[in-house]
Order: sequence, then C-alpha cells, then structure tokens
Amino acid sequence: MAVIIDGKRISNDIKDELKARVNEQNIDATLCVIQVGNDPASSIYVKNKKKACEYIGIKSVSYELPDETTEKELIDLVQSLNEDKRINGILVQLPLPSHINSDAVIKAIAPNKDVDGFHPENVGNLCIGRQGFLSCTPAGIIELLKRYDIPIEGRECVIIGRSNIVGKPMALLMLRENATVTICHSRTRDLAETARRADILIVAIGKPRFITKDYVKEGAVVIDVGIHRDEDNKLCGDVDYEDVLPHVSAITPVPGGVGPMTIAMLMNNCVQSALQMTADK
Ligand code: NAD
Repeated sequence: MAVIIDGKRISNDIKDELKARVNEQNIDATLCVIQVGNDPASSIYVKNKKKACEYIGIKSVSYELPDETTEKELIDLVQSLNEDKRINGILVQLPLPSHINSDAVIKAIAPNKDVDGFHPENVGNLCIGRQGFLSCTPAGIIELLKRYDIPIEGRECVIIGRSNIVGKPMALLMLRENATVTICHSRTRDLAETARRADILIVAIGKPRFITKDYVKEGAVVIDVGIHRDEDNKLCGDVDYEDVLPHVSAITPVPGGVGPMTIAMLMNNCVQSALQMTADK
C-alpha cells in the first residue's frame, strides 16, 4: 500500500510550530503582500497568505494595485518598503500584468526581505550552498520528504520541469541533499525512459494528469507539484493519480499534497527574516 503524503497535516504542524515560536520568542514579523490587478487565482493565494499570517501571529500589510500600475510605480513602492524598518518580508504576487517585467521587480526587492526566495542573490546563494531564503514550493517538498523519513541521499531523483520557481531550485535543493539529480524539460528526448530511472520523481510540468504509470518505476516516490482544474472543475495535478497509485511507494495527492506546503514555507521564511533583522540591529 502506498503512503499518501499528507501535506495538509504537515503544513498545519509547521504553522503550529511557527505560531508557538512567534509567541514564545515574541517575534515581531510583518509581511507585505503586493498584488497588481485582480486575477481571481492570485486573489485567493493572497487571501490564504494573509490568513496564515494571522494564524501564526505575523502582521500583514497589503497593497492591491490597479492593473494599469506601471513598472516604475511598482518598483518605487518596493524600494520604499525595502527602507521601511517595520516590514521584514516583501512578496509581489505573480504573475504580474504583461506590461511589467517580473524579473526587474523581483530584482528590486531587498534580498534580506525576499521571502519568496526569487531574488537572484538568494538563488545564487542556493546554487553555491550558502544561507539565503529558499523558494517556498521546493523547500516545502524537501520538508515533506524529511518529515516522512524518505531518504534522499544517494538516490536517483528525476525532476520534470525547469522553471525558475520550481524545477531549477528543486534540482539544487535535491543536490544539496546529496541526491543524484536529472532535470527533464520540453526538449528531453525520451521522457518516460528517463523518468523511470527515478527513486524520487518530482513533477512540475504544468499539464493535467500527464504522468501515467508508464513514467514511473515500481516503488518510486512521486511528488506532484501541478495544480489544475479538470473539465469537471475538479482539482487535479500533473500526475494521473489513480493510474500511478498502485505502482508507487509514496505519493502526494492534489489537493492536499505540495500546495499547502508552499504557504507554510513562506511563513517560515517570514519568521526567519524577522529573526535575522532583529539579530542585525
Ligand atoms: P512552467 O510552465 O513554468 O514550467 C513547466 C516546465 O515543464 C517547463 O520547464 C517545461 O520545459 C517542462 N515541460 C513542458 N512540457 C514538457 C514535456 N512534454 N516534457 C518534458 N517537460 C516538459 O510551470 P511551473 O511554474 O514550474 O509550474 C508547474 C506546475 O506546478 C503548474 O501546474 C503550476 O500550477 C504548479 N505550481 C504549483 C505550486 C504549488 O504551490 N503547489 C507552485 C508553483 C507551481
């Protein structure tokens, strides 16, 4: 019987641990969330982030800016928040409207307030094995594997997807945990054959139910990062869960797998940032 990795439970455990820590150590943390436009999915993510802050005892400030906000206006706001000593985490909700260059905005965030872990300095630190904020979804996946005692060191890990927010940082984190890492992407020649090498298969391909049993070695651990709504408006992942389930040793469901971990790790970064800023004073 496969282990169903319960991301909801683990994320609740992490939020409870953070809440206790904030309370015991009297940690004064404030996250600022900026949303441009009113994309409904982004509004839900922002609402959930604020709710998690409230639960843990992190203050949150939000800016809901109109769609026609210019790149300069947004960068000016980010820069004023960089200077604001009361704010220790800045998060710009992605995607941004197409007239704004996301890379320029991310680069404008002070690296010590970049709780999403997207700033080139934090990505660079991850790459060379130095301290810095970690991208939340990949960090959440490592936490899931560790809390389920799934060994990583020396194992074959195949990651499908090479995006800057999931695939690439995921590969670097698995490498840091001493896995043997292969990254697959849209130009990979024989995806199924490569994926079947994996002891741990991490899927961030962005295509609903794409990964079937043909891509999975018997007994592999499968981590599904994808989130989609199918034709019946039901949530599903990048993995065909029902098809793959009988063949795996452990798997993350969608919903309730990787998704809740992203916010938990964001909260963790906010607390770390507050502690660091206090230490630097
Ligand atoms: P993306 O679209 O930026 O990247 C998809 C990657 O898949 C690309 O690198 C591409 O090379 C690769 N790919 C596409 N087609 C392929 C093919 N046929 N064979 C091999 N590789 C192929 O997506 P992303 O931002 O990394 O997100 C991936 C999925 O994860 C999406 O469904 C997204 O909604 C979800 N997501 C979930 C969370 C979460 O918190 N759970 C966070 C981020 C993203």
